[in-house]
Amino acid sequence: MTASWERRLQRAEELAQRWPFATEALKFYAHVARFQASLQDALRGSVPVLACKEEGFVLRSASPLDHRLLLRPKFAGFLELVREIAPPQLAAAADALRSTPEELWEALWDGYWRGQALPDLEVEGPLLAFFPKAFLQPYAALLAAGLRGDGEGDALSSPGVETSPVCPLCGAAPQVSVLREEGHGAARSLLCARCETEWRYKRVRCVACGEEEARRLVYLQATEWPHVRVSACQVCRRYIKEVDLTRDGLAVPVVDEIAAIPLDLAAGEEGYEKVEPNLIGL
Ligand SMILES: [Zn+2]
Ligand SMILES: [Zn+2]
Repeated sequence: MTASWERRLQRAEELAQRWPFATEALKFYAHVARFQASLQDALRGSVPVLACKEEGFVLRSASPLDHRLLLRPKFAGFLELVREIAPPQLAAAADALRSTPEELWEALWDGYWRGQALPDLEVEGPLLAFFPKAFLQPYAALLAAGLRGDGEGDALSSPGVETSPVCPLCGAAPQVSVLREEGHGAARSLLCARCETEWRYKRVRCVACGEEEARRLVYLQATEWPHVRVSACQVCRRYIKEVDLTRDGLAVPVVDEIAAIPLDLAAGEEGYEKVEPNLIGL
């Protein structure tokens, strides 16, 4: 398991102890993350990194269907795991997918990969979306890391990305906004929900509609965890959570994002909708 996965698991364990309201969710997340780490290990070496210079979202030139024979048995194992560890509704959805023909699994992966509508599979939309996302994240991250050839935490900063509401590599929405120390202040980046690419983003700008008028952008925060906040927009009513690494250098954005559950509830009460649900469905 790579250091990056180990950090996530360790952080999940720490926060599960520190924040009782997040214990169940983080235990579930840790099971999923452990599966993701082992899937990525298994794929490493079998999935060639593409040297590709196409226009548009380069990650779309690869497809999970190119590796269907590798991925099918892994997906069966993933469904089995979710059936055992997930809350009842999600477990039932995993069960339903177990008895779905494998060709339809592929349609599910493909729909998610291309950002298109998911096939009709007798599983409710939001529940269904969890499966291709959690399953293909490590695959996408492997391809994207190979394409970028950089280290973790290096945000893409090519021209134009600072105003891009979607990942410059794969076109997916951001999962979390991250602030990192830079010079005497902090630089903001967005972390892709699919391929883990980080790209630089303007400090004062809505991640959904691009609003830049500071008085229309609001923040919701709680004193208990000052390094995580909701960054919301009054124009489009969408929000994302932001993890400030200058306030807590030990935070792991994807994990802290999941753990700060009360902030999602607060945002929901204010009528804001998240740009991208996380792996625990919030
Ligand atoms: Zn991406
Ligand atoms: Zn907006």
